[in-house]
Amino acid sequence: MSSTVLKHKRATLERIEKYISNTYFTDVNLFGRVDLKTSENCKLFRSIEERQSYQNFERIKNGGFALITEGEIFKPLWSQHWIKVVVPASVSVLENLYLHWDVSGAESMVCDENGNVIQGMSHKRKEVKIHCNAVGQEVTLFIQVSCTGLFGAGLNGMINPPNPNQTYNLNKAHLFVRDLAKYNVFMDLTVLYEIAKEADDNTSLCYDALYTANDMINVITLNNHSTESYEQAITIGQNVLQRGGNSKSSRDTIHAIGNCHIDSAWLWPYRETIRKVARSWSTTISMFEAGMPFNFAGSQVVQFSWLKQYYPTLFAALKAQVGKGNFTPVGGSWVEMDTNIPNAESMVRQFLYGQKFYREEFGMHSNILWLPDTFGYSGQLPQIMQICDVKYFLSQKLSWNLTNTFPHHTFIWKGIDQSKVLAHFPPGDTYESDLKIKDVLKTVTNNKDKGRTHDQMLLFGHGDGGGGPTPEMIDRLDRISSINGMPQIVRSTPQRFFETVEKSSKMLCEWWGELYFELHRGTYTTHAKLKESNRVAEFWMTDIEFLASLDLNNLLGCSKIEEMWKAILFNQFHDILPGSAIEQVFIDAMEDYTNLLKLYNEEWEQIRDSVLPDTKNFVVNPYNWSRKQVLSMSEDEEVLVEIPGTYIGPVCLAPTPNKAGAFVLEDGICLCNNVIKVIFSLEGRLKSLIHKPTGRECLEAGSFGNRFVIFDDIPLFWDAWDVMEYHVETRQEYHPKTIQVVESGPLRASVKITVPLVEHGDLTLIATVVTETPYVSFKADVSWRAAHKFLKVEFPLSVSSTDAQYEIQSGLVSRPTHANTSWDSAKFEVSGHKWAYLGEPDFGVGLLSKSKYGYSAQHNRLTLSLLRSTKAPDGNADMDDHVIEYAIYPNAGPLYASKIVQHAINFNHPLLLHTSLRQDRTAPRSKPALNPSRLINKTSLRVSSEDVVVQAIKKAEDRKGLVVRLYEPYGKTVFNVSVFHDLLKQAFSINAVERDSSKTELPMKGNVVGPLQFKPFEIKTIYLELNLADDMTNGSSCKKAKLNDE
Ligand SMILES: [Zn+2]
Repeated sequence: MSSTVLKHKRATLERIEKYISNTYFTDVNLFGRVDLKTSENCKLFRSIEERQSYQNFERIKNGGFALITEGEIFKPLWSQHWIKVVVPASVSVLENLYLHWDVSGAESMVCDENGNVIQGMSHKRKEVKIHCNAVGQEVTLFIQVSCTGLFGAGLNGMINPPNPNQTYNLNKAHLFVRDLAKYNVFMDLTVLYEIAKEADDNTSLCYDALYTANDMINVITLNNHSTESYEQAITIGQNVLQRGGNSKSSRDTIHAIGNCHIDSAWLWPYRETIRKVARSWSTTISMFEAGMPFNFAGSQVVQFSWLKQYYPTLFAALKAQVGKGNFTPVGGSWVEMDTNIPNAESMVRQFLYGQKFYREEFGMHSNILWLPDTFGYSGQLPQIMQICDVKYFLSQKLSWNLTNTFPHHTFIWKGIDQSKVLAHFPPGDTYESDLKIKDVLKTVTNNKDKGRTHDQMLLFGHGDGGGGPTPEMIDRLDRISSINGMPQIVRSTPQRFFETVEKSSKMLCEWWGELYFELHRGTYTTHAKLKESNRVAEFWMTDIEFLASLDLNNLLGCSKIEEMWKAILFNQFHDILPGSAIEQVFIDAMEDYTNLLKLYNEEWEQIRDSVLPDTKNFVVNPYNWSRKQVLSMSEDEEVLVEIPGTYIGPVCLAPTPNKAGAFVLEDGICLCNNVIKVIFSLEGRLKSLIHKPTGRECLEAGSFGNRFVIFDDIPLFWDAWDVMEYHVETRQEYHPKTIQVVESGPLRASVKITVPLVEHGDLTLIATVVTETPYVSFKADVSWRAAHKFLKVEFPLSVSSTDAQYEIQSGLVSRPTHANTSWDSAKFEVSGHKWAYLGEPDFGVGLLSKSKYGYSAQHNRLTLSLLRSTKAPDGNADMDDHVIEYAIYPNAGPLYASKIVQHAINFNHPLLLHTSLRQDRTAPRSKPALNPSRLINKTSLRVSSEDVVVQAIKKAEDRKGLVVRLYEPYGKTVFNVSVFHDLLKQAFSINAVERDSSKTELPMKGNVVGPLQFKPFEIKTIYLELNLADDMTNGSSCKKAKLNDE
């Protein structure tokens, strides 16, 4: 045995590093020898056609082109340009011939001469392989350049608003031939170098890799780079890289799954995402077609639907790969949605329409919810998943927590109703790893559930248009999967991973309730109009589906309801509704909501004429409780009405025994009705808020309520996303200046208050007390022109509790009002839906809100977040006029008896007077009826109990019956709920995605379903089969939507 020099680890390691460096010594190292330019380069031509979309490919291909060279400039931002690349016959037949393509970070899409999309290119992937069918022939490619980078075009910073003057340069377009022997040695050395650098210093593996790589370099150098020397080097490398072997000795198994997380709209508009999807997925499909062994998981059903619509040939190729088991559609939700803000019905529809597409196109149902990048997870998600037949959950976002490290990677997630799902957060803490050694090692060492499970997921691939996995990653995977001493790494699918964990794991811990994300807490408030539009649209859907469910003559009828839902669902994507996208995304979303309103009105007219052909004035109440409300009959006429539950029909008047009034006092102004009395100071400050039946003052002694406060709002980096805990230290109060009575009863009493916000804007407030209404409401008109300021309104209350309650999807969540632990203190800003509540066992105060989602409760102070003024990625976010409505509701009794859920719905979505189109507009308005008992409730559907709440009443997807979805909102068991329908034939419990297999018959008697029992926070979906005449289900079928230009 010959002796050798003692090798210094760092020097040896750096020797290897320099030998494969793409920066240093490239004139003499291995990197510089792998790829060699061809003797003749390609020729480049630019299309002179005007419309440069892919859908115009044939016209572009046959149209005019002009010769160009490297250095060509492309602009403006978001525009498309086609380049024809002609590879000369002299080089086209060379083996391993590639085109190197670099347009200063712009994304490109390569097509063959028939328009088949081959792959995408970007700064993450700069080469495409050239294939020549016959000797002596030129090869022509067409490349569409999109003027955007992977992460848009932020001016002086990634998340800044896009630079409209951004241009892109064709830096490089040259042909090269790859020497495969050298490339293989290069990849071997790369992996060995990483092992030597990253593996535990105390292991043989670390030094085996180090010395093996060193020996490989020696043999190449000593043999003067001969062909044989590379073959020898490969043989030496086998010492560690036993290619084709398998490291079965490891106790840990890593499931490697390729993916590319593509944000459906973010720092670019959604139109660009359509192209990103085509670029990325075509790349993956081409790799499969080239025989590369790996599995890929694609998510977000809307992206599949785009591919089908805009790139049908590519979609067919994708389907073929799905059939072969290479490409796995996962997720089953229409988009990877936010889960703080959408309501429960929206979340159900994410699955209903998402899974419908998967079923129709791929014959499959995904039982995995795939939300790797969403900003926190509602405690109601496990139940929503379960009722939608989804039992596994994947995320990793909580690894971004700023304060506390989440204690699990594999665990049982238990929802507020106790539904359980199996959850996994890949311990590599990323969904876009490069599959480097450090990613592989971290996946095992960082796993917090060692011993409970030996399986963990590793997601690899460049996201957001970067093309997903690269050939280098697959070559790396090939090498890593056969190294003794490394964790066993297998090519897997999400389904296989979860099934393995389900079978083999033991003692998994449970996490009960929400997965609160300790970051991005500004997203409950940023872009107020998106949030407002989302909430209003969700209420529209409750109305319109309820109405459609009455149209029994047309159960099969063509409906735009699915199209309307899809617009709502799309805009619930995790960078749209949270407000963290560029201005163009906001503009597009607002256009969607405008269009939605148009569709809503069209549906309304159609259904109304069929359901209520003779009724002139009517009201609709899709909810299962009677509602008393002041209703505007005309500009100058208001009446108090009382409307039964699940009702459509004429207006019915209610007597007005109690009046509201406004009184000027010596030192203030008083508004009151029979339940509530509020007193404002002569400047407009809220001095007192008394619950009259108990005589209890709701405000903290000596404090004013309804205080407008502004905070400095400068986060660490993620501007639109984050509000930091230190913002509370910059609190400044803005006092009202003037107050005047504007209405003094008997139905409504109100005052107008002005609150100067100085340089940040103007605020005018109307405070109102309405007869028979147990709360005081506030309507603020705010003209907002601030920068990095945060506007809130706060109420110091006379009640105290360690926890406050917040409405979430069809339920509530309790969160601390203190900062005892780091977990408590991290919740300084939280999300909630239509109300928050701070209460003692027998008395509490609710804060109702229209369109706001950010709250906080510190000690006895309940605060509603109103407006932010972030400048990135949208420099104009929220700079606008806003109408903000909220109310304070004192309640004598426990929360569960408060009916706050019903009050919050009534407040958000008041009854409106509807007028039939068939009415002669000059004819006198029909008089409201005086005796409600004489009214015919046209709906024929009733729910016996007000302890449960209607979530949706809709036509069944099979168009053979109705679906009624009810939930228990307070966390208590409810007995004896019945549902009536005049035409009831049979009733079933069914899952929320309405899959037949889940149907079970429900007890019924005559036309009554029940008695039904609800567990705390349970959501039940009830399918009502009706006795309908045969001709009732023979509606017209829908025409297929036309293909649009991208
Ligand atoms: Zn994302």
